Amino acid sequence: MFPSVLPTYNRADVAFVRGEGPYLFAEDGRRYLDFGAGIAVNAFGHAHPRLVNALTTQANRLWHTSNLYRVPGQESLSKKLVDSTFADTAFFTNSGAEACECAFKMARRYHFVNGHPEKFRIITFAGAFHGRTLAGIAAGGQEKYLEGFGPKVEGFDQVPPNDLKALEAAITPATAALMIEPIQGEGGLHPMPPEFLRSLRKICDEHGLLLIFDEIQCGVGRTGKFFAHEWVGVTPDIMCVAKGIGGGFPLGACLATAEAAKGMTAGTHGSTYGGNPLGMAVGNEAIGMVLEPGFLDHVQSVGSYMRQQLAGLIAEHPSVFEELRGQGLMLGLKMRVPNTDFVAAARKHGLLIVGAGENVVRLLPPLVITEEQVREAVKLLSDAAKDFETQKTTVAA
Ligand SMILES: *Cc1c(COP(=O)(O)O)cnc(C)c1O
Repeated sequence: MFPSVLPTYNRADVAFVRGEGPYLFAEDGRRYLDFGAGIAVNAFGHAHPRLVNALTTQANRLWHTSNLYRVPGQESLSKKLVDSTFADTAFFTNSGAEACECAFKMARRYHFVNGHPEKFRIITFAGAFHGRTLAGIAAGGQEKYLEGFGPKVEGFDQVPPNDLKALEAAITPATAALMIEPIQGEGGLHPMPPEFLRSLRKICDEHGLLLIFDEIQCGVGRTGKFFAHEWVGVTPDIMCVAKGIGGGFPLGACLATAEAAKGMTAGTHGSTYGGNPLGMAVGNEAIGMVLEPGFLDHVQSVGSYMRQQLAGLIAEHPSVFEELRGQGLMLGLKMRVPNTDFVAAARKHGLLIVGAGENVVRLLPPLVITEEQVREAVKLLSDAAKDFETQKTTVAA
C-alpha cells in the first residue's frame, strides 16, 4: 500500500512525543540529546517556558486576521529587526523557501522599477541551498533536487564559491543580484572566507547589483552574532531569515534596505498566513531573547568550548573524523565513515545529529546549551565512533 504520508523523506523509525530543553523523549520513553534542533530551528530548546507562554497567550486571544488589516505583532517584530540590522523593512513568511522567493522577486522588481526589466538573473554559488520551490531548486542548482521537475526556472546562474574570476565572467547586462549563504549549511558547513564576502559587496556596488544573503540557517544567533555577516563587516541589500526566528514555530522573514525594497509596492507580493499573530507572538519573544544582554556571549563561549572538545574528539578517533568545520554553534564534522551510518549510530547511543553534503555531520544544538550538555554530546559521539573502530578491528582480524 502506498504510504499515507508522501514518502519524500527517508525517515528514521523513531517518533518523539515530548521535548524539554535540549532533550527529546520518544514514544517508548527513551531520552535523546538533541544536537540537530530540528535542523537549526529549536534555538531555545524544546518547550521553552517563555515561548510556550507567548504562543498560548496569543492563542487564547486571536489566531488569524489577514494582511488586509494591520497586525501589531508585525509592527513590533519588524521594528526589533530593523533596529538591530542593516535592514529598513521586513516581509514575514511561514518558511525559509518563501523568504527566498520574496528575495528573488524583490531583486527582479528593483531593476524593473529602475527601468531595467532586462536585469533579472541571479548568480548563486555551488553547494548552495535556497529551499525546495521551483525557483529555490533553480537557485540552489543541485542536480539531485532538480531532476524530474521539468525545465529549470529561468534566471539563475551558478559559479563556484571563492572564485572571483568565474564570478566576473558570469556577470552580464542581465544580472540583477548575487545570492549566497555566508555559511553554507546543507552544502556541508562551508563558512565563506570573509575577504570573499567583502569582494562580493564591492562587485555588487561596482555593477549596480543587489547582494542577497541567505541567513536562514546561520542567522538569529547561530554563530554568536545576531547575523553571521556581522563577523565580516559587510551588509547585504536583502536577507532571508527563517529557522531560529520562530524557535520551532513556522516563521520566516525577508529583510531589505528601503532602496532594495522600493519596487515592492501594494499588490506586488502577499501571503495569507505570513506574519500571522501566532507567529508574531513567538517571533517577538524569540528575537527579544536573542537580543537580551549575554545571550550571544553565551553562544560564543559555549561554541568555542564545543570546538575545543570536538578537536579532542577528532584527535582521539582519527579514523572516524577528518576535520571540524563551521562557526559558533553551527559546527560540522567531516567524516571518514559514511555520514548517514554515523548519524544512525549516534542516534542508537541517544544523540540526534544531522547529515549534510560532502559527507559531513552537522552539530546544531539549541543555542541555550550548557558546557555540561556539550560534554554529554561529545561522550556520545565518542561512543558512536568506537562502534566504527571496533568494526574496523574485526574486519582487519
Ligand atoms: C532550510 C533552509 C532553506 C529553506 O527553508 P524552509 O523553511 O525549509 O523552506 C533555505 N535556505 C537555507 C540556507 C536553509 O538552511
